[in-house]
Amino acid sequence: MRPAQAAPRLVFRLWIGETMEELERIRHEIDEVDGRILEALAVRRGLAKQIIQAKDHQGAPLRDALREERLLGDLIARGRSRGLDAHFVTRVFHEIIDDSIRSQQLHLMAGSDRPELKRIAFQGIEGAFSNLAGQKFFAAELDNAAFVGFAAFDQVVDAVEDGSVDFGILPVENTTAGSINEVYDLLSCARLSIVGEEVLRIEHCLLAVGDVSLGAIRRILSHPQALAQCMKFLAGLPNCQVQSHPDTAMAVKKVKEENDPTLAAIASEEAGRRYGLTVLRRNVEDQQNNYTRFLVVAKKPAPVDLRIPCKTSLVMATPHEEGSLLKALSLLHNYRINLTKLESRPIPGMPFQYLFYIDFEGNAADERIAEALDRLRSVTTSLKVLGCYPRQHRSRTAPAIQALIEGAPKAAPPAVPVEEPKAAVSYRLASRESKPQDTVIDVRGVKIGGAGFVVIAGPCAVESREQIYHCARHVKECGGMILRGGCFKPRTSPYSFQGMGFEGLELLAEAGREYDLPVITEVLSPADVEAVARHADILQIGARNMQNFSLLNEAGRANRPVLLKRGMMSTLDEFLNAAEYILDRGNHQVILCERGIRTFETATRNTLDLGAIPILKRLTHLPVLVDPSHAAGRRDWVIPLALAGHAVGAHGLIVEIHPEPEKALSDGPQALRFPDFTDLMRRLYPS
Ligand code: PEP
Ligand code: MN
Repeated sequence: MRPAQAAPRLVFRLWIGETMEELERIRHEIDEVDGRILEALAVRRGLAKQIIQAKDHQGAPLRDALREERLLGDLIARGRSRGLDAHFVTRVFHEIIDDSIRSQQLHLMAGSDRPELKRIAFQGIEGAFSNLAGQKFFAAELDNAAFVGFAAFDQVVDAVEDGSVDFGILPVENTTAGSINEVYDLLSCARLSIVGEEVLRIEHCLLAVGDVSLGAIRRILSHPQALAQCMKFLAGLPNCQVQSHPDTAMAVKKVKEENDPTLAAIASEEAGRRYGLTVLRRNVEDQQNNYTRFLVVAKKPAPVDLRIPCKTSLVMATPHEEGSLLKALSLLHNYRINLTKLESRPIPGMPFQYLFYIDFEGNAADERIAEALDRLRSVTTSLKVLGCYPRQHRSRTAPAIQALIEGAPKAAPPAVPVEEPKAAVSYRLASRESKPQDTVIDVRGVKIGGAGFVVIAGPCAVESREQIYHCARHVKECGGMILRGGCFKPRTSPYSFQGMGFEGLELLAEAGREYDLPVITEVLSPADVEAVARHADILQIGARNMQNFSLLNEAGRANRPVLLKRGMMSTLDEFLNAAEYILDRGNHQVILCERGIRTFETATRNTLDLGAIPILKRLTHLPVLVDPSHAAGRRDWVIPLALAGHAVGAHGLIVEIHPEPEKALSDGPQALRFPDFTDLMRRLYPS
């Protein structure tokens, strides 16, 4: 018996040995490829520096949008022929193009008298978010940079003022916790100039010594700003005491020194790694979109080349009389100046009088801006330009849809002539009368309404991570703009799949982030509106809930666009009155959706009321979409109805797709297969 047993064991061992060898060989090859990628990136960065010198000689603009678009289109085509998807290629080259522009900008900013070594002050110790922001800002020159940490913001300002450092990094605002008032107050008195800005995505981790359980933690240390950004997470830990600390990285260091397993810190993963703590939880911030904006300050202003898109910051006070702020702002408006921020702070020693901090797009060296600033001086009691600096938010070249689906977009549907409605209507805010021009809703850069045509696609319901990622990738690959996926499903039978709830919502949001697609999902209950709005870019109110007035009221209070579907037994007047509820509660971002109504016809699931589209476009300024999926109920009719919706002038579509419709947990028969969706996109955007 023995030899017979030994043989397979030996084979097994040999097989394991071979696989280990194979693994080693592949790893070695990957290391080599990574090395070549790094080499190529370094060569490319060198070429970017040469190109800016050539551009300098010719006075050519820093960016060439057409060239960038062509470049990206070519790369996508070449990537595809090698099996790489368009989204991946776009993401990688966005980073590369961004880096190239950043280093070209630094070159233009540095001029010839650039110091050998840049000393950069920040508040905190190594690993603090200000330190990470500085590293990102000076990424192309890290060899020449020395970072110096200070205990407080005013020490950073002092160090820049007295010349002991060249630059300072100061956080000014966070998208969850708001402005950092202390820094604003320092800026108004400081003798320094803003020379740059940096925006950093802030992802907080809960860090501890070793892999202890969350329940064992009794005390959490962090900077008050970080604690404010994680309030909801902390509220879920009632047995923990929260303690503020001067800086997030210092909190990490302290936890490490104490070596106490009941102690934890909230800080960056980077700080945790640097000081040897273990990540217990990632992304403990209340909002996924948590960003902090930092300013880079120096003793002297740094003139910015007119070719670089710029921002200017100023602080001003207006006379304490009626209409004075309005006068100052309308002056900026007359010069077509786009404000990016307006903040007021109390003037020290003058109760209820305010200083106004303003950021706007433009370069003070530009004649138009210089003239506007001169005129502004005459209507203000004080005005100080804090600095003029390159805008961090660089527009990213998007591949044209035709680069994705080959072919140029069709002309926009003809505009519908606007006529005043004859009879008095019971809805006011929704009517054309109250707002003649089309409402255009901007969802993270995707515009819904007006002249464009938007395509929202995705599965009826989120079913698993694989399924929603698969759909997101396909939507992106075909040029779809927004990802749909139901998480709370209003099903006719209580025994049918009811959706994955919040777990599904997290998957949907994750897939949307991964593929850079805004997401839409249905909310069923007024109590869930706030929580759903935290993850979804658009809230959907379904046909069955069109007249659920408490849901409409709650959605009216949410700060998110709402896609309202027409009830299957509702008239257009009832539809517009339902929209009116949302508008009246203060939310002006309502999108209407015709999804079919009940008639005597049974050949389709519902009857798509195509006539409603031009009529609604005449009655209201709100965008009108078509849902051909729920109208048809059968895949075969979805594409013709979608094309019909486009032809009658809808502002876009919401359509269901599924990788394997026969396995779908809801609405499988009406889901387009992936090739069908590609075909639909080709027909909507023919070459
Ligand atoms: C949906 O979009 O998944 C849905 C349930 O649609 P409706 O409310 O139009 O039936
Ligand atoms: Mn559905």
